Amino acid sequence: MIYLAFVDDWEVRGNGSGDPRALQFEPMRKLVKIFNDYGIRGSFNVEVMQQLVHRNQQERFPELKVIADEWEQAVMESYRQGHDIQLHLHPQWTDAIYQAPCNWKLGGDWSILNYPCHQIKAMLVSGKQYLESLLGQINPAYACVSFRAGSWCAAPSDFLLPILSELGFVFDMSIVAGIRYDTPQVKLDYTPCQEPFLPYYPDMRDARRVSASVQPMFCIPTNTFPGPRVALARAAFRKIVRKVSKRNTATMTVASRGRSGNEWTNKGESGAVGLARKFLKRYVVGQAEIADLAQMNYAMMRRMMVHIRRQAARSGLDRVPVILENHTKDIHDFSDIERFAADVASSQDVKTLTLTEIAHGLRNGTFKVRTASSL
Ligand SMILES: [Zn+2]
Repeated sequence: MIYLAFVDDWEVRGNGSGDPRALQFEPMRKLVKIFNDYGIRGSFNVEVMQQLVHRNQQERFPELKVIADEWEQAVMESYRQGHDIQLHLHPQWTDAIYQAPCNWKLGGDWSILNYPCHQIKAMLVSGKQYLESLLGQINPAYACVSFRAGSWCAAPSDFLLPILSELGFVFDMSIVAGIRYDTPQVKLDYTPCQEPFLPYYPDMRDARRVSASVQPMFCIPTNTFPGPRVALARAAFRKIVRKVSKRNTATMTVASRGRSGNEWTNKGESGAVGLARKFLKRYVVGQAEIADLAQMNYAMMRRMMVHIRRQAARSGLDRVPVILENHTKDIHDFSDIERFAADVASSQDVKTLTLTEIAHGLRNGTFKVRTASSL
């Protein structure tokens, strides 16, 4: 049985730009409606630094209070309907400067790994406490149990996992086997990850490695699958067509969504030669694709499930938790996700669950956890 978690990183763009109403509040409600229609309880990793910065500056700028209040309403509304809320954190909001109206200048480093130990701890404590006091109003037993780092930056680090475990987090899901970024904002190398699929006990100082022994924290990788090159090329082509036609009709509302591309452009992949290299790597050689629903069409989602079923069968385990990714800010068209949700809801071998339920399952032994010697 596959236990599938529909997980969504809920935030504005990495550089602080974007209208939270268009990128977060509105699409969250649409997604929650789809989940409700198919009996799925989703999980939102809400980015709290943005919210805390809004709250800190709301006395000086009353418009920020309006946004922060709506943020809380949206989160509480989803939680009341049975969806999970967990912690996501983008440290670049540290010392953010508000440039009225509606602009932010973010000066902080994008990777939590580049902050000193006490600052990492302070960010995690304030995020966890904030969510627990907010959602404790609805459910006194609510606990922040899982973590996903902004821009996936979680390893290697002498501090991050030890602090998470000290604060009572049960598992981390920031590892995505096979990806590598070398951008001005983010540098990480997850090509040497030892476990791409199953829950494992991590080396507490390098979550890319599976520990030889039981540890106080668990890791579950966010799912990746081999890039379906033809489907990807088709999706990329459609995106270009959509962009061009949007430009022609001068309705730029959709274009205001999504991540700003250059944040994720690797060194040596800009300019004509760089773009050709990027194209070659993605569509000809093939590379690991993050299971991010917002970046996929329905055909790719199906292909992803084929891969998940194959890996689950190969593991020989009765029950495997699988973590998907999504970004509400990047969803252009909800119909593919809706079709996929319908498929999942009618599959005999797939159950959906929340991150909190996964945490319980890890703790009580429902889900087997691997060490370097087991399995
Ligand atoms: Zn994020």
